[in-house]
Amino acid sequence: MSEQKMIGYKCEYCGIKIYPKREICPKCRKSEFIELEINEIGKVVTFTKLYAVPDGIDEKPLILGIVDFNGIKITGQIADSKIKIGDKVEPFWGKLRESQGKKIYGFKFKILNHS
Ligand SMILES: [Zn+2]
Repeated sequence: MSEQKMIGYKCEYCGIKIYPKREICPKCRKSEFIELEINEIGKVVTFTKLYAVPDGIDEKPLILGIVDFNGIKITGQIADSKIKIGDKVEPFWGKLRESQGKKIYGFKFKILNHS
């Protein structure tokens, strides 16, 4: 299992933080970014449960959330149906779906503690 780090990007000009990387800053249209390693705890901003799930996805429902990592908002799968807004989550590398017999991996989020 290779070590995977979630990398965010900060625009050198306007300072906006984004993930994933884009060619052009959505705010100022420049294209210079600084890499930011995301290793802190995120907080769930919002989420949605999808009951109609595309082929190749095991999770039913599929939970998609927006998680705020110190100002970087990241959309991704949440691997816990007990999720609540404001929960603290951490990223982990896991299987997202299967496509034509191939497993697609990416970052997912899991709840750190139930309060
Ligand atoms: Zn910018």
